Amino acid sequence: MVTLRGASGSPGIATGAVYVIANAEAVIADHPEPESVFRGAMERVAVELADLRDEATASGRQEAADILGAQALMAEDPMLADAVVARLDAGEGLGVALDAASRDIAATLAALDDEYLAARSADVIEVADRIRLRLAGVERLGLDAMTTAAVVVAEALTAADTARMDPSLVAGFVTDQGGPTGHVAVIARSLGIPAVVGALGATEAALAAQQVALDGSRGEVAFDPDDSTSADFERRRAESAKREMYAARYKGARVSYGSSPVRIAANVGSSDDVAVAVDARADGIGLYRTEFLFLERSEPPSEEEQYEAYRIAAEAFDDPVVIRTLDIGGDKPAPYLNLPAEENPFLGERAVRLYDQFTDLFRGQLRALLRASTAGEIWIMVPMVATLSDWHGVEQLVGEARAELAQLGIPAGDPKIGVMVEVPAAALLARHLASHVDFFSIGTNDLTQYVMAADRTHGRLHRYADAAHPAVLGLCAATARAAAEAGISVAVCGEAASDPVTALLYAAMGMDKLSVTPLAVDRIKAIIDESDPGAAAEALRVVLDAATATDVREIVQPLLDGAG
Ligand code: PEP
Ligand code: MG
Repeated sequence: MVTLRGASGSPGIATGAVYVIANAEAVIADHPEPESVFRGAMERVAVELADLRDEATASGRQEAADILGAQALMAEDPMLADAVVARLDAGEGLGVALDAASRDIAATLAALDDEYLAARSADVIEVADRIRLRLAGVERLGLDAMTTAAVVVAEALTAADTARMDPSLVAGFVTDQGGPTGHVAVIARSLGIPAVVGALGATEAALAAQQVALDGSRGEVAFDPDDSTSADFERRRAESAKREMYAARYKGARVSYGSSPVRIAANVGSSDDVAVAVDARADGIGLYRTEFLFLERSEPPSEEEQYEAYRIAAEAFDDPVVIRTLDIGGDKPAPYLNLPAEENPFLGERAVRLYDQFTDLFRGQLRALLRASTAGEIWIMVPMVATLSDWHGVEQLVGEARAELAQLGIPAGDPKIGVMVEVPAAALLARHLASHVDFFSIGTNDLTQYVMAADRTHGRLHRYADAAHPAVLGLCAATARAAAEAGISVAVCGEAASDPVTALLYAAMGMDKLSVTPLAVDRIKAIIDESDPGAAAEALRVVLDAATATDVREIVQPLLDGAG
């Protein structure tokens, strides 16, 4: 048995067979008859992709089935084979010929003025990768090749990989890299997939193991666990099921902190997630991360497609639906924007900082949001605002989008417009911002990384990534005070709103809304409703003067024992 400790990526216990996503170098050896070896590999890959497509269809994963179907056809298409064979005939080695031919075809497709064909460009590269792995004899492939349920172990995953995960196949995952508030972890929580991130050495240990057990809440992993460790993980699983059963009595309830109502809303990233939030009977949506509509594609969604997505969300709830404008950059790149690589992506051109370069894109999103606001109560939220001039730039673009709609005679609603408080400067000067905006929502994921100067995706810096640190709590409390003075709504929508310790402190600070991962809605409702405001207010007073996050947790935890 090998045990490792990482950070909590997503709570829950997962056990099962190990499935390693190998980042192994695929080295293709020279062969006396390269053409026949190559054609044989293509045929096998075409069959493999068709099998995967059929499995995806049978398990109702239509989106994955469509992609795999298109790739299966591509693996049979003479276009790639002819290009590779021409290069082999010219004397190139098999690996070089495959790389160059697939890159040429992908570039040609990407340049076409045809959305469907341009999207196939990425498929050519994926099919060529699959052929390369076959030729190199590397057996274990990517997530799409999973056919039975297992625990995924990888050096690193992208936000897009995680968003595509099928929870019926991925029982849980462990990564060497990544931090607890990176988007990989955020998405895992929304899918309810237990995960441990930043467990250095995981891939190496996994290559020698058959079975793995992980505790996503505590960040613990055991490869080939012995009997007593397996029993311990089973006991933890039973305890967490008991907690969930208890919390379920709050489904659909409205809760208060003392006599002040607190809305427990949900964080979502797609129309599918909206349905999950409706099932969770959340009090509206507190954060709709629209950038997920923009990733993993060769061009941005049209205004019409966006309007539909926003309208569906607006119509799904009577409570407000807070839709965040694009937060691209950082750990969420969109290839078609052709942004130059950043030395420090989280300190670079991200979110609102890109809007004046991509005014058409942003105004299109604003038009879709203003139109969808006629269907329900949408609040528009702007990420990463650091200065008043960021805010004034947004106001100007909103005015332009409104004028464009008016000129076309298209009806628009009158949504509230507010900002995420996630840059320390915005929190420190919240009293100035508060008189300009309609509401605040604190993004503790970014606020924590910026206050602690620790990249939220960094595998070795989790010890800095705790929003319970008094330095971060102090800024949250200051933001809540500024909002109260200005008479505007203030929420927390970072992952810390789903953590019982910090959730209780936020209620004590006077937040009127906590927006949490849908699976945590009932539990946080229970925590807030069963709290003792007198004791929580006293705990808040003490923790704001504490020195460490550990002290904060020790002070607050006793108030939660027995609750929720
Ligand atoms: C945050 O930063 O806390 C937040 C909610 O936004 P995101 O995690 O998408 O950056
Ligand atoms: Mg953020």
